[in-house]
Amino acid sequence: MKLQSTKIDAFKGRFRGEVVSPGDEAYDDARKIWNAMIDKHPALIVRCITTSDVVLAVNFARDNELLLAVRGGGHNIAGSAMCDDGIVIDLSQMKAASVDPVARRVTIEGGATLADLDASTQAHGLATPLGINSTTGVAGLTLGGGFGWLSRKYGMTIDNLESAEVVTAAGEVVRASNTEHPDLFWALRGGSGNFGVVTHFEFRLHPVGPDVLSGLIVYPIAAAKSVLRQYREFLAQAPDALSVWAVLRQAPPLPFLPEEVHGTGMITLALLYAGDPKLGEPLIDPLREFGTPLGEHVGVQPYIAWQQAFDPLLTPGARNYWKSHNFSTLQDGLFDAVIESIENLPSPQCEIFFGAIGGATTRPAPESAAYAHRDAQFVMNVHGRWQEQADDERCIGWAREFFKASAPFASGGVYVNFLTADEGDRVRSAYGPNYDRLAQVKRTYDPDNLFRTNQNVQPA
Ligand code: FAD
Repeated sequence: MKLQSTKIDAFKGRFRGEVVSPGDEAYDDARKIWNAMIDKHPALIVRCITTSDVVLAVNFARDNELLLAVRGGGHNIAGSAMCDDGIVIDLSQMKAASVDPVARRVTIEGGATLADLDASTQAHGLATPLGINSTTGVAGLTLGGGFGWLSRKYGMTIDNLESAEVVTAAGEVVRASNTEHPDLFWALRGGSGNFGVVTHFEFRLHPVGPDVLSGLIVYPIAAAKSVLRQYREFLAQAPDALSVWAVLRQAPPLPFLPEEVHGTGMITLALLYAGDPKLGEPLIDPLREFGTPLGEHVGVQPYIAWQQAFDPLLTPGARNYWKSHNFSTLQDGLFDAVIESIENLPSPQCEIFFGAIGGATTRPAPESAAYAHRDAQFVMNVHGRWQEQADDERCIGWAREFFKASAPFASGGVYVNFLTADEGDRVRSAYGPNYDRLAQVKRTYDPDNLFRTNQNVQPA
């Protein structure tokens, strides 16, 4: 980036947050994001603390023709929160939340994590559907759709979005809702970071917990085919309040598993019942009878604790490469492919999971919001995860191999938030039939494609 220092000084003079540049002590930490494979060097990282800071930064980027990236929680696998040479609008200092427990609404700033949001709403026994790793950013997750343990009952995260405050490419601050800038509101709900910087999200809330029935039931990989078949039948008739995901990997050293199975292949059923735990207990009993479990850890625990249960397996700093498909049904051929893949894991941290959505996520019409995949009953993620750069090729190769083997059974759609940086050719599949309308909205709100460090929608 070639920019006169006088211009940067003038910007700093008006900016209230912190500006981090190469050479500053904070620089290397500020450019780190969840996926250690991303090693980008922005010219400036501007840590905003107010909406006015965001306006200044957007205007500065646009007027000086700088490449612009926006960082929420920094979890995006493609590394879109960072850019080389340009400017990063870093929202990680903007996390404040305000809950109205009577109206069941929360307003939260654009740099908050899922943990921030859950902490504020659970103080009132309320929640909105979010993802399964508490350090993920609310912003990126929401803008791509968002799903987790509560989604079968209460829908995608975007289905609970009431309004958003957005700084547009023109530097205007607008409120988007069903009645104000409705096209923009439509596009924000699944169109990822293409339409502006969201400084505030307002969500509807539901009574959840604070204690919920949740946990893990673990079977050996040798039983995986039979478990997966029974899992498929079970979910087809399960109530929306019950969410069960299937995770295949090597057994981590969990205290409730016998030591001799640590490091061996397993299939885990991870579950949450979003209702009175007493009503959930009999519903989950059949899950214990799919075979002889290696162990289980199921009980009534704080919802917040379950929301953080997977954090230790998903810490930042590892190298990660993902491949993903949506499925409307799970076929037996897919089970054979997944079992073969787990028998050939390239690293003990790799896993394949089937996130069961369905339920309320399938009820809105595909064109009602930019997120189009209302037919998806399962979102599968091949999670390649390892530590050393020397293992990149092997681990990436493994993920691609299973992705190919599972493609014949997939629906064709893909969740935009699971796309890696090298999947530009799948962007249209991610936005599906809504791509053309997104391109129209993009022309209105970002005609010069200022917000392009993302799974990009080209202005029509
Ligand atoms: P960032 O990398 O900070 O941002 C991603 C993109 O979002 C940026 O490029 C930018 O374009 C845009 N963006 C960020 N903040 C803003 C903002 N305030 N305004 C406008 N644009 C913005 N997803 C699920 O739905 N469910 C899950 O259970 C789930 N689990 C996950 C677990 C892990 C370990 C990880 C790494 C990801 C998971 N995801 C899940 C995917 C997650 O939704 C995406 O990675 C998402 O992009 C993360 O958002 P972020 O704000 O942390 O990311």
